[in-house]
Amino acid sequence: MTNFQSPIVQGWCPGALRPMQSGDGLVVRVRPRAGRLTPDQARGIAQLAALHGNGLIDLSSRANVQLRGVTEASHPALIDGLRGLGLIDASAEAEARRNIIVTPLWAETDPTQRLAAELTAALAAADAPDLPGKFGFVLDTAAHPVLRDVSADIWLETGGENLLLATQGPLAKPVTPENAVAEAIALAHWFIAQGGVTEGRGRMASLLKHQPLPEGFTTPRLPATAQPTPGMQPQGQLVGFEFGQMQADTLAALADLGPLRVTPWRMLLIEGLAEAPPIPGLITRADDPMLRVIACTGAPGCLQAHAATRPLARALAPQLTETLHVSGCAKGCAHPTAAPLTLTATPGGFALIRDGTASGTPLREGLSATDLTETPILTEIP
Ligand code: SF4
Repeated sequence: MTNFQSPIVQGWCPGALRPMQSGDGLVVRVRPRAGRLTPDQARGIAQLAALHGNGLIDLSSRANVQLRGVTEASHPALIDGLRGLGLIDASAEAEARRNIIVTPLWAETDPTQRLAAELTAALAAADAPDLPGKFGFVLDTAAHPVLRDVSADIWLETGGENLLLATQGPLAKPVTPENAVAEAIALAHWFIAQGGVTEGRGRMASLLKHQPLPEGFTTPRLPATAQPTPGMQPQGQLVGFEFGQMQADTLAALADLGPLRVTPWRMLLIEGLAEAPPIPGLITRADDPMLRVIACTGAPGCLQAHAATRPLARALAPQLTETLHVSGCAKGCAHPTAAPLTLTATPGGFALIRDGTASGTPLREGLSATDLTETPILTEIP
């Protein structure tokens, strides 16, 4: 990495009870239970975002819903409102531990919702493993695995005849719907016992660089299917939003259509809906150019940003043939994993990275927004 000023790594994720300061106020992150919002919850969040925040609502890459522009003064009333909707945990610690991403493609006939309730209870129990704030679980237990690329540490996923317990590696351990949650919790305790909390950034991947998994991880995982695109799914309509952000009015309009499943792809699945109505700001087509760009809040909304990100991403979207991640700094919040193309803002202009993360090694440095929009740099790189 050259010429990148190191971003501040917080080591924890904001929650509702423990919000994070950003350039436009406090960011209050709500974790929907089992990845689902009832219409009343979604409508309530929309009202609270308009009343106590700046009306902007983000979807996060961990399938959470973020209210922006909250103030110290408005935060207590917002929490009271969210508590009334059943969206607040007993403590900030309990909230931080309930870090579970659930496949939005679950059906009543699969074990996903039952496992989500069981895992939620296990992580709230007095003897729950004391895990680092970014440590997360995935329930990818619908017909096909689709959540292989999310940032997490322990997966329970569909594996043919059995469920599988897995980490990032290609091999997994067969488990049953009956013992799956107990096995996942046991693996979390193993992670702590092996010193994983103080290892690297307190993530499973850091520990596994030098520590083999315990016995039993010998079954190959099923190949993951591609991330779904906006449009019809067996469970309803999947809809996207420019940069995963919407106005409170948009969420209120969606709440009238049915329960909402929150995805880690910054999209919502509207349960049982056959066709999405023409609500402004909704991405309903798989070929929408805005789906090719990912951009974090950037300047001025984020205090760590070296440049504005979204206007540049919006300007570049029509010329792209592959995914572009524009990041306001090397932290890469909007897309922690590698992207085909990444532009990272630095104090000395944008760095262009091929097949890497926002902190990867640049092919080019010192690029201005004008260089990028007025010359075919992005379409001509190998
Ligand atoms: S990646 Fe973007 S949102 Fe994250 S800290 Fe950097 S500038 Fe802020």
